Amino acid sequence: MSRLQIAFARALADSARSVVWDGRWYTCGEVRAHVQELREQLSAAGVRPGHRVMVALPNSYAFVVSYLACLEHGAVCVPANSDMPAGEFERALARYRADHGIVAPSAGERWGEVLRGHLFHCGPSVEMDAERGQVVQIWQRSSGYALEARQGTSEQQPAVLMFTSGTTGEPKGVLLTHGHLWAAVQNVIQSHALTAADVAYCILPLFHINGQVIVLLSTIVSGGRIVMRDKFHASLFWDDIHCHGVTWVSCVPTILSIVAKRQAPKEALGTLRFLRSASAPLTPAVAARIEAAFGVPVIEAYGMTEAAGQICTNPLPPGTRKPGSVGKPVGMSLVIVDAERKPVAPYELGEIAIRGDNVIHHYVGMEPAPDYGYGPGWIYTGDLGYMDEDGYVYITGRAKEMINRAGEKISPREIEDVLNAHEAVARSAVVGLPDPLYGERAVAWVVPEEPDGVDADALRAELESFCAAHLAKPKRPSQIVIAGSLPVNATGKVQKHVLRNLEPRDRL
Ligand code: ATP
Ligand code: MG
Repeated sequence: MSRLQIAFARALADSARSVVWDGRWYTCGEVRAHVQELREQLSAAGVRPGHRVMVALPNSYAFVVSYLACLEHGAVCVPANSDMPAGEFERALARYRADHGIVAPSAGERWGEVLRGHLFHCGPSVEMDAERGQVVQIWQRSSGYALEARQGTSEQQPAVLMFTSGTTGEPKGVLLTHGHLWAAVQNVIQSHALTAADVAYCILPLFHINGQVIVLLSTIVSGGRIVMRDKFHASLFWDDIHCHGVTWVSCVPTILSIVAKRQAPKEALGTLRFLRSASAPLTPAVAARIEAAFGVPVIEAYGMTEAAGQICTNPLPPGTRKPGSVGKPVGMSLVIVDAERKPVAPYELGEIAIRGDNVIHHYVGMEPAPDYGYGPGWIYTGDLGYMDEDGYVYITGRAKEMINRAGEKISPREIEDVLNAHEAVARSAVVGLPDPLYGERAVAWVVPEEPDGVDADALRAELESFCAAHLAKPKRPSQIVIAGSLPVNATGKVQKHVLRNLEPRDRL
């Protein structure tokens, strides 16, 4: 058994303890019984250790049971977005090479034709709570993919196959082992001081690394409880925190900027230890507004799928949180390197490279990164940034998104930070578009704080002079587009590849 599997058994040993809230509290005894039943059904359906099982369920108790059943069974869990349209589901099946799928009964209506086309047939259903729709169905292929030979220790066994968010291009396949997950979970538990007394509020999708490892796995292993919602609902946020005594919430910046604008009932703040932000840059003004209004620390962290979750985090109080910084690396090595992959001095810009027990060495179907003399196992993240003299890391952008204007490299993040600091701006995204004279030009998409009735031309003129006051001439966006919203993925990340393909004109 892997350390993760042993930890599950320990954490779920007390049958009477409530552990997951999803419309009602489910006890550890219920979780164990449902996991056992689902494992038996998976076995009966022909799932063997090492087989890939796609779990395409919304955030729910059923997801938790299915995820645990796969990991305890030794199958490779492939979490997928249950909202995918049929065409995307078909592409995902090919990419994930899954032999089996666990879906909600309603998936037959949505994906039935695709499943039939792929020679899947419907296997047994497992009922956990019919009243609340906690029923799952097992789909199986009649001609399965060849089983990869299992080698190595229990820690080296693959546990989940994840895909990166696809922000910079095609999503990359990341196969995380039991050992990677264990190391990642230890880092989160240690840095956020999670204990059995904690209640996590799960509003991020469980098919992404943040919801899955930071919230779900870390909570289960630390013996805490988890309150689930299908997604973030602004109107339920404080009520849920209050009613269930939530102690921490893993958020993304978009959620926090909405939370910052709403009132919080005083009672709700009694149990809340901190709000965590990761996945995308957090505007320091949003964190400052929340901290001033609610007195709750906002902890910015940095993570990626390849690291099974967290890389860096700011410390909890009384440690020092530095606005604009993602904090220090936790339980792993991090260096900032120049173009020749040589480490740079504090405050010098470079690419972030990482290595640790939680970090993969290569992507599925791709060669490992070359060893640049530091030994194997380093991943070059494609994230750019610098470190200060105290070891705090600051992210300045992504290598792939840098704009090359007549040879001058412009960081979209620097322009976004300036725009976001303007009080009329809710959020912004800057992309490089082809330019006949300069090669590339910076185009800024801006969502106003109050999009209704906004005078786009007046706001543009105001932002142009604001940029003129805060950015050197070549860095100023050549065009500012005012829009009602930005295209985002399930975790609220701006999909810049979509923006690059949109005609840059106001959309209100
Ligand atoms: P892809 O690799 O497919 O382009 P992705 O990098 O967005 O997509 P994820 O693994 O979900 O996929 O996200 C990790 C990335 O998110 C990091 O490499 C970094 O660019 C960004 N990120 C995470 N946390 C932060 C943060 N606090 N501030 C800025 N960027 C962050
Ligand atoms: Mg990435």
